[in-house]
Amino acid sequence: MVAKVIDGKAFAADVRARVAAHVARLKEQNGITPGLAVVLVGEDPASKVYVRNKHASTIEVGMESFEHRLPAETGEAELLALIDKLNADPAVHGILVQLPLPGHLNSELVINRIDPAKDVDGFHISNVGLLGTGQKSMVPCTPLGCLMMLRDHHGKLAGLNAVVVGRSNIVGKPMAQLLLGDSCTVTIAHSRTKDLAEVCRRADILVAAVGRPEMITGDMVKPGATVIDVGINRIERDGKAKLVGDVDYESAAAVAGAITPVPGGVGPMTIACLLANTLTACCRANGLAEPEGLTA
Ligand code: NAP
Repeated sequence: MVAKVIDGKAFAADVRARVAAHVARLKEQNGITPGLAVVLVGEDPASKVYVRNKHASTIEVGMESFEHRLPAETGEAELLALIDKLNADPAVHGILVQLPLPGHLNSELVINRIDPAKDVDGFHISNVGLLGTGQKSMVPCTPLGCLMMLRDHHGKLAGLNAVVVGRSNIVGKPMAQLLLGDSCTVTIAHSRTKDLAEVCRRADILVAAVGRPEMITGDMVKPGATVIDVGINRIERDGKAKLVGDVDYESAAAVAGAITPVPGGVGPMTIACLLANTLTACCRANGLAEPEGLTA
């Protein structure tokens, strides 16, 4: 079997185009421009790249982008005061605080200061609770992107066996909640799971969010399964820097029915879903109909 490649890059471009079209309509018909505020504290090189990309993508779909770059030594009170200001600003519909924060800042405290309605990362404890109880919430971007691609590929997910490898708060747990919300039978595997290969082989949908390069190999994949590789690992191979996922692509693609590549799979969907979440937050804030197919 040769797996169908799920093209996350093309899918993300389509999501961004749908967001842009909706933004244009909002401007024209309602005089509203969705706005996303991104807060970066410190000089982490990877975070700087992410923030730059988010800014460019926000502008590209016609939204307002508000960037706040603060020095690494910024105090907690100052950061919380900025979040309070953004919470109160009607031009700001989404707020994202780029993680990780410098060590002296308490990430939980900071994230939970964001108005849950503007929490486009979906990390606020209220949104975690709403998702867990099957209520309307802001959904974390990476798992939302995975869900969109799975729905597109399968149509209905009800009754499928889903295995999520990884139980982090930003990927594994919300991914499992979303799959449960779509009536999959969900197993969450982690570092203490016994016989991981056997557990994975039960999956019609296998989501790898482990952070270990190429750990999920073809012998762990059920023939015909859909494999979603969330992993982004920078490794060195043959003296060259390379980006690989948590799935050993070659061996898994020989067994799977469909698979996301790395790069070009889940990665591009994350920013696209951030834009989708900002649009959703803007529509909710203004009592307008939400965009279809861009939320959980
Ligand atoms: P994380 O917080 O480090 O969590 C990793 C999870 O994998 C943990 O639950 C851990 O189990 C589990 N795990 C580790 N070793 C394992 C093993 N040998 N067998 C089974 N489970 C194991 O990582 P994360 O933040 O969820 O990220 C996961 C991956 O996704 C990383 O590669 C990251 O770079 C990538 N990522 C990509 C995007 C994107 O936009 N595409 C976004 C976010 C993250 P325990 O809980 O038992 O320790």
